Amino acid sequence: MAGDLPGRSIEYADLSWPQAEALLSSPRKPVLLFPVGATEPHGPHAPLATDMVISLGMCRRAAAALADDPEMGALILPPLAYGVTRYSAKFPGSVHISEETLHNTVVGICASLIAQGFRYVLLVNNHFEPEHVQTLHRSIDTVQARTGVTVGYLDLTRRERAALLGEEFRRAECHAGRYETSLVLAEKPETVDRHTMATLPAVPVSLVTAIGQGLKEFKAMGLPQAYNGAPAEASAAEGEETFAVLTQMLIETMRALVRGMGGRDRPGFFGRREDGP
Ligand SMILES: [Zn+2]
Repeated sequence: MAGDLPGRSIEYADLSWPQAEALLSSPRKPVLLFPVGATEPHGPHAPLATDMVISLGMCRRAAAALADDPEMGALILPPLAYGVTRYSAKFPGSVHISEETLHNTVVGICASLIAQGFRYVLLVNNHFEPEHVQTLHRSIDTVQARTGVTVGYLDLTRRERAALLGEEFRRAECHAGRYETSLVLAEKPETVDRHTMATLPAVPVSLVTAIGQGLKEFKAMGLPQAYNGAPAEASAAEGEETFAVLTQMLIETMRALVRGMGGRDRPGFFGRREDGP
């Protein structure tokens, strides 16, 4: 567990194998946080890694907050920085992997950990393209069917969760706008071009509406620079406030998972498949 390790490491891959073995019999339940993101354009001002920066920021804060928790602790798995990313395909920098590749990778990693005896793995995802989120849910279903173990998931596209993440996110103007840019300013400010950010006009396009119209590409949706919302209004202070909300949600989800009382959200808007659950 984090608090029992030399240097209080919170990175799973920093463990030696005897430390990994000891973790399995730790009285504090080890929760393995699996950061998932995408490598894709986030406006002309924010990094391709935006979604991963947010996932890692949540994981780091949750692990630190649980360092002395008597019930559980967190370790962060090596992240998966690629996802299903077709919407941004017309912009330089986008890296796409197929649904099958994502599914098989997530299932393989989770099943491998479960086969060793780890019982609590939780996906921490911040890339919300529907086909990506749907694939993560399907991966969790596959792991459940094969192993009987529930992989945790915090679905931020659920209405009650989105409602806590600010007006812009709730309106689904959630790609590289004020919400995401603020989080990156809080976590990795050197990767945001603040000068460009300050010049960007607001793009009040709802991704929920655009997706509902059957659009599947940012330029066609009315996001000519691969962002919507209002990035010029972003601030590190708002990012820290949002991280506090996200971290609280994550810890509650982890606790539900270790107590066998949930921990896996049902799909929200972006996670539902048209062809069934
Ligand atoms: Zn994003």
